[in-house]
Amino acid sequence: MTGISPDIIAVIGAGASGTLVATQLMQHARRPLHLLLIERRPLIGRGVAYSTTNVYHLLNTPAEKMSAYQDRSDHLVEWFQQRQDLPTEWEPITSWL
Ligand SMILES: Cc1cc2nc3c(=O)[nH]c(=O)nc-3n(C[C@H](O)[C@H](O)[C@H](O)COP(=O)(O)OP(=O)(O)OC[C@H]3O[C@@H](n4cnc5c(N)ncnc54)[C@H](O)[C@@H]3O)c2cc1C
Repeated sequence: MTGISPDIIAVIGAGASGTLVATQLMQHARRPLHLLLIERRPLIGRGVAYSTTNVYHLLNTPAEKMSAYQDRSDHLVEWFQQRQDLPTEWEPITSWL
C-alpha cells in the first residue's frame, strides 16, 4: 500500500467547540486526516446550550457577534439568511408559538 498514512485525531465532545475545531482541522489539513468526532448526544454541534427545544430560549448574543470564523464576522447571519426553513429575524416571535 502506498501513500501517506492519515493523521488520526479524535475530538471528544461535539458541542459548538468540538464541532468548530473539527471543521477547522478539515479545512486546514495539508495531509490526509482521519477525524473522529465523538459525541454522546444524538446531534452534533448543539451541545447543552443549543439542544433546547423551548422556543423561549433565545440567543443571548447578537447573531453578528457569533460567527464561527474570525475572518468572516457575518458568517452566521449569512447562513441564517440562506436557510429557507427557518423564521426570518423580522418575523414576530409569536408566530413561532
Ligand atoms: C442554557 C445555555 C444557554 C446558552 N446560550 C448561549 C447564547 O445564547 N450565546 C452564547 O454565545 N453562548 C451561550 N451559552 C454558552 C454556550 O454553552 C457556549 O457558547 C458553547 O455552546 C459551549 O460549547 P462547548 O462545545 O464548549 O460545550 P458544550 O455545548 O457543553 O458541548 C460539550 C459536548 O461534549 C459532549 N460530551 C461531554 N463529555 C463527553 C464524553 N465523555 N463523551 C462524548 N461526548 C461528551 C456533551 O454531550 C456536549 O455535547 C449558553 C449555555 C447554556 C448552558
